[in-house]
Amino acid sequence: MEITFKDKVVIVTGGASGIGRATALAFAKKGAKVVVVDWKENDEEVDLIKELGSEAIFIKCDVSKADDVKAMVDKTIAAFGRLDYAYNNAGIEGTQANTFDCTEENWDKTININLKGIWLCMKYEIPEILKQGKGAIVNCASVAGRVGFVGLPAYVASKHGVVGLTKTTALEYAKLGIRVNAVCPGVIQTPMIDRLTGKTKEAIAQFTGLEPMGRFGLPEEIANAVVWMCSDEASFVTGHAMTVDGGFTAQ
Ligand code: NAD
Repeated sequence: MEITFKDKVVIVTGGASGIGRATALAFAKKGAKVVVVDWKENDEEVDLIKELGSEAIFIKCDVSKADDVKAMVDKTIAAFGRLDYAYNNAGIEGTQANTFDCTEENWDKTININLKGIWLCMKYEIPEILKQGKGAIVNCASVAGRVGFVGLPAYVASKHGVVGLTKTTALEYAKLGIRVNAVCPGVIQTPMIDRLTGKTKEAIAQFTGLEPMGRFGLPEEIANAVVWMCSDEASFVTGHAMTVDGGFTAQ
């Protein structure tokens, strides 16, 4: 079955960079009208909208702020009149620190964006998707929603939270036509990973040394999983957290 999202509208948060950007492009290729949401707005986003074509818009929004998220969904409906799918992807890595050293500011910021942000997005997206009688949401978790990582307690807690929240919301809407899943990427070549490795040869070698495939994943490899989970090909898939990590968590 050819996957198509013709005449359908999708929100992609954190769509200005990395995995979100690749996923926005993947949805556009399948015919969707794409709403790129990010708290950054610069020339790169304008270029992305041009690349996405005439049926894409950019909305500036901080996903951790309820008023921003509500306004973002309202603007989506004002622009396209409907909402069918959402990929809630915006996230930050937070500052690296062990549980003892983690500051309250680091904890709050990471949890507020990565976990509260996903709850807020679903809170305002779901009533609009319900009006279509059918739709799907994918939330971005991580392999850090599967296993622990030393030095990232707030990040790991936020991503485990995303998996739990996804399962609960999936159960709430299973009979109402909305499927809710999560994707758990492994280490993916994006600006976030560049920040974590500092792009140094040693750090990159250390990270890839832990990878069964001996390489990082590509943003497009996550985008493909998200597109599939939203599509009718995945019509019986809900409450699932799909790990796409080149075998990392199989070790
Ligand atoms: P990235 O930094 O390249 O992109 C993240 C985007 O989210 C950026 O454009 C950023 O501006 C946006 N963003 C951050 N906070 C926001 C906020 N409050 N409101 C709106 N937009 C906000 O990172 P990425 O690697 O593409 O990460 C995307 C998602 O994938 C994140 O949730 C991340 O935790 C998750 N993830 C990434 C990896 C990886 O290895 N890259 C692995 C597992 C999970």
